Amino acid sequence: RSSRIDKEKGVNVQVLLRCRPLSEEESKLRIPVVISCNEGRREVTAMQNIANKQIDRTFIFDKVFGPASKQSDLFQQAISPIVKEVLEGYNCTVFAYGQTGTGKTYTMEGGAGRKIKNGEFPSDAGVIPRAVRQIFDTLEEQLAEYTMKVMFCELYNEEMTDLLAPEESKFTDDKSKKPIALMEDGKGGVLLRGLEEEFVKSASEIYKILDKGSAKRRTAETLLNKQSSRSHSIFSITIHIKECTPEGEEMIKCGKLNLVDLAGSENISRSGARDGRAREAGEINKSLLTLGRVINALVEHSGHVPYRDSKLTRLLRDSLGGKTKTCIIATVSPSIHCLEETLSTLDYAHRAK
Ligand code: ADP
Ligand code: MG
Repeated sequence: RSSRIDKEKGVNVQVLLRCRPLSEEESKLRIPVVISCNEGRREVTAMQNIANKQIDRTFIFDKVFGPASKQSDLFQQAISPIVKEVLEGYNCTVFAYGQTGTGKTYTMEGGAGRKIKNGEFPSDAGVIPRAVRQIFDTLEEQLAEYTMKVMFCELYNEEMTDLLAPEESKFTDDKSKKPIALMEDGKGGVLLRGLEEEFVKSASEIYKILDKGSAKRRTAETLLNKQSSRSHSIFSITIHIKECTPEGEEMIKCGKLNLVDLAGSENISRSGARDGRAREAGEINKSLLTLGRVINALVEHSGHVPYRDSKLTRLLRDSLGGKTKTCIIATVSPSIHCLEETLSTLDYAHRAK
């Protein structure tokens, strides 16, 4: 798809579509399936029945993963090449975008039994543990000298919370959710005040951090009534690798991988997803809307990229645009009951191409 890969500007946005299978419950209820995937042709068709007329709409993506696709296939085909770029010194971001319940967290973190034991993870482990494993395997293979730090945070209503911060006290629950200040460093990057960045030396350390962070996220979810469908979680790994040029000069290569589980796309209205208005959604998902505009501006090479309009895009600024790679995994449900939202997701994701 050379048309979208502009070498000079380096804009590289890849859009994938993943459709989950019907759940057991949905199968039992014989919920009609209205989405069909053709992986070979990279096509997704939504079958819509309007006034007894069958109207199909077909969308083409860079890659399509149907209901039977495995976590390992998605990783090997779509994410592994991105991890390689990170190790070459690129800043890359993978987003999961879609309606709540369509598999964003499943894709990014993994299935319910996603706990990792002794470095072995289950077959339904998601993108994050697989990316971590590939990074460590590669660095060990190259006997590279490196430092690595990770951060894991959540963004809700334009407020950031550290998912790695130690719990301060059981009695002051709100204190353990210290707000984080985000400041420009004047060199195109950002500084985060009040956010823990943990240096890590092994994959198992990261797995522990991940477990801790996602457990914290799930607790918040039950406490705050599904807040998580409105919040974004951002897991970032920054790697500095020491290298020697053939002339014997020492060089530091720096790469960053951001893995982002976005808020449910139902939080922005359909018209908002299409033209970015969505006033009615208010502040709730400024970040989701701004992300759409930023990606559009990058893909269309329009001069002004509105990074500054939301926390998420300010946070990811050094990884969006320029010499970076972006991958959006749009997730949908095959069910007839989700068709309206599915079409909205297909429209949004397709426009990002
Ligand atoms: P989201 O994060 O988008 O709200 P989840 O990842 O929580 O959605 O997925 C909702 C449910 O569907 C979970 O029980 C999850 O395990 C299941 N699920 C999602 N995607 C798949 C898939 N590709 N294969 C099997 N189960 C899936
Ligand atoms: Mg989720």
